Amino acid sequence: MAALDFKCDDCGEKFFEIVNSYNKDKVVCPKCQSKNVRQVFEGKCQTGGSSKGGCGGSCGTCGGCH
Ligand SMILES: [Zn+2]
Repeated sequence: MAALDFKCDDCGEKFFEIVNSYNKDKVVCPKCQSKNVRQVFEGKCQTGGSSKGGCGGSCGTCGGCH
């Protein structure tokens, strides 16, 4: 179980959700109830490497560092 950051592709809402193996595929946007959400890794970009911790926009999943 973990608190993961998500972003809604429909309305742009950013939110986090406590997810586990039972509900991780059922996350919906709290604002518009869209299922068109994706996980982002705000502030935790793993593919960066720059001294600022950013990925330069190349990782494709990062919602916060560029
Ligand atoms: Zn939404």
